[in-house]
Amino acid sequence: MKVIPVNLPGQDRSYQIVLDAGGRQRLGDYLSQLLPGRRLWLVSDTLVARLYGQEIVDHLRAQGFQVELLTVARGERSKSWPVAARLIQQLLAQGTDRGSALLALGGGVVGDLTGFVAALFMRGIPVVQVPTTLLAMVDASIGGKTAINLPAGKNLVGAFQQPSLVLIDPEFLLTLPARERRQGLAEVVKAGFIRDQGLLELLAGPGRRLFGDRRLTDRDLLLEIVGRAAAIKATVVAADEREGDLRRILNFGHTLGHALEKAAHFRLPHGEAVAVGMAAALDLSAALTGLPTSAAREGKELLTALGLPTLAPPLPEAEVLQALRVDKKKQGQHLVFVLLRRFGEALVQPDVPVALVAEWLAHNRRT
Ligand code: NAD
Repeated sequence: MKVIPVNLPGQDRSYQIVLDAGGRQRLGDYLSQLLPGRRLWLVSDTLVARLYGQEIVDHLRAQGFQVELLTVARGERSKSWPVAARLIQQLLAQGTDRGSALLALGGGVVGDLTGFVAALFMRGIPVVQVPTTLLAMVDASIGGKTAINLPAGKNLVGAFQQPSLVLIDPEFLLTLPARERRQGLAEVVKAGFIRDQGLLELLAGPGRRLFGDRRLTDRDLLLEIVGRAAAIKATVVAADEREGDLRRILNFGHTLGHALEKAAHFRLPHGEAVAVGMAAALDLSAALTGLPTSAAREGKELLTALGLPTLAPPLPEAEVLQALRVDKKKQGQHLVFVLLRRFGEALVQPDVPVALVAEWLAHNRRT
């Protein structure tokens, strides 16, 4: 078991990230020390509820909690006003009060939606994050950002709602399909690139074998890798709670990644788009910030070894560049990218020539 403290200024806002293999069996103990009330609403999507919902409800009831399960459909479409409004109605109908808490059991979709509802309901009730995807463990559950989507775009309405606790039980990953695992792996590698060269070494050696094995046999190594990546997100968001310069380094790989997702009309999985974005950012770093070319090559080899793409899908270049300009609200000849000075050290580069990105796309495209 490992505890990562997230220290934030202000009363009662700091929280802990607890990494505990099999920790879902100890959730009641963690919550007893933390929450004033004994009334809990477990929010999950239908698949995660089917896999783990009853087990956790039974465990919490046995620990003396009054707990009900609320489910939403799987997928991004549940991050919406109608679903948030329905949850709020259900909470009201069942007499939820300020002494109650929400528990998000699921991936980033459930985490963002539940956090958003917790932020709005009676001007804020506690939320506990229990992430079940790799992406949610190392990224979405940490930092207090919550949101829903609008027809005009993703995450356009949101609130900051810091969790009371994040419980990471890596054993949830045993049932996560390989494709979803890859989405999270992209964020794990990103954490290494921006802040932790040692994590990259772990991933290139034993980590590569670990993630190649469906059963994730080496649980200590899994805990170590997930813990290091989660700790990086925690350190960055604790030092910069609301999107200042430091937090922007978390966007490594995301500038081009978002543009590719948009140009592909969101049919390109997020983690794969970010992996291609990181490959581009490595090459741009070699061109602009002095990252050795050999390091850029090694970085891309690591992505490939982990089953992540480094070449852009065949999308019209003009659409990708247009999406890049709109995304960054830039109409000129320069773009803002997060680049690397060396492995483990990121910087925000405000003047990346559009022409250089266009050239990269022209030479690094899947045929
Ligand atoms: P997701 O929540 O849709 O989960 C992916 C799929 O995996 C779902 O079908 C789910 O049912 C299934 N699943 C979840 N856990 C499982 C398990 N243990 N076993 C088997 N199947 C399981 O997707 P995601 O990738 O976790 O999250 C993506 C969302 O996270 C996006 O909406 C994104 O905007 C958000 N996000 C938020 C932040 C933040 O800071 N708040 C950061 C990054 C991403």
